[in-house]
Amino acid sequence: MKFTELKIGDEIKKNLENSGFKKPTDIQYKCIPSILVGEDVLAVAQTGTGKTAAFAIPIIDMIDKQKKNRRTDGIKCIVMCPTRELAKQIGSVFNKLSKHTDVVNFALYGGVEQDKQAAKIQKGIDVLIATPGRMFDLISQKIIDVSSVKYFVLDEADKMLKLGFYDDLIYIKKILKQRHQTMFFSATIDDEIKKLAYAQIKSDAIRIQISPKDPVSKNVKHGVLFVKQDEKRFYLLDFLVENPQAKIIIFARTKVRVERIKKFLDKNNIVCDVYHSGLAQTERERALENFRENKFNILVATDISARGIDIANVTNVINYDLPEIAENYVHRIGRTGRGTNKGEAISFCGEEEENLLKNIENYTGYQINKVILDEQTRKKAEISTLNDNKSLQKMILDTEKHISEKAKKRRK
Ligand code: AMP
Repeated sequence: MKFTELKIGDEIKKNLENSGFKKPTDIQYKCIPSILVGEDVLAVAQTGTGKTAAFAIPIIDMIDKQKKNRRTDGIKCIVMCPTRELAKQIGSVFNKLSKHTDVVNFALYGGVEQDKQAAKIQKGIDVLIATPGRMFDLISQKIIDVSSVKYFVLDEADKMLKLGFYDDLIYIKKILKQRHQTMFFSATIDDEIKKLAYAQIKSDAIRIQISPKDPVSKNVKHGVLFVKQDEKRFYLLDFLVENPQAKIIIFARTKVRVERIKKFLDKNNIVCDVYHSGLAQTERERALENFRENKFNILVATDISARGIDIANVTNVINYDLPEIAENYVHRIGRTGRGTNKGEAISFCGEEEENLLKNIENYTGYQINKVILDEQTRKKAEISTLNDNKSLQKMILDTEKHISEKAKKRRK
């Protein structure tokens, strides 16, 4: 099936073409027709499967047609999501897909001044993409009026529940007065999600499940490499040197380790940048933007970017350290193989991390393929370790100093 065969407006089809989307992903193929005929949807889909466009396309189309038929005011759709990064990202997908239509979108989140946001909303918007805190603030101040909302989307429902938004979710549904269509997206499904879903959607809702048994997208090939902890950096270096064209996210456990990796790569003339919670919000945004725009091709990050961040064409994910929360494995490696792209992920598993690997395998429900390296590559790593031990200790100390100085500066 092609997008051209769908009964959606020509402007949207053109926008899809301009975004490089030729045919729908599985989740889009299943969701779009159901949403267009007004059905409630409960979709379980992994990260990177194209779920944003799966709800954005039909919603934009329905609102645009209504607006073209007659003037209608007020917010028609609310998309609720857990983080500001995700709100921005969903907002930009809506903007991209609604170019040259009559649909006006706005992403609302906390941590920034509210006056400008209020002014934009009062000027008139159709789609509000929002994190709960700021949205409820503005509802209580009567800046947001939800009485004309016809479409309600809950994205990353599992994450919302984990963050304790259950009561907020129930509350928003209660105050949506009109009969409305509910679309509910979650990467995982368990009893709590089901309970929430049943409280939210019509009992005859369509349940759409995309490869529920394997939480990893089928576009991602992933494997694990058993290495000695102090040899990890040499395997990393080897990989980066041998794959100069690759666009890579390297995940490490802590911000100190992230900075340490950067220092090691700098020393070896490999250009990269970092992304972790020790940076100011503007620094984080700049790093992501530069990575997105290919100003550099290697991003070293902690788990803060493991979920929801959507950067096209990431070819590889390297788990320099295994994540401590098994679920984060799936979110990390889901940064590659997005949409219809293919991706590869490799995890370095040190001796002390084997229990983490077991947890991950329990979570995915299968054993992760072992990557076997040839003798020569192993020998190279061993020799590098012998040569490098002295400078390493200095490097660690330098890095820790660097982070605390940065923190001090920010506090000033
Ligand atoms: P999402 O799961 O919504 O975060 O989307 C993951 C990625 O897939 C994004 O980079 C989208 O731009 C991309 N994408 C979504 N739909 C398609 C499509 N039909 N064809 C190609 N790429 C897509």
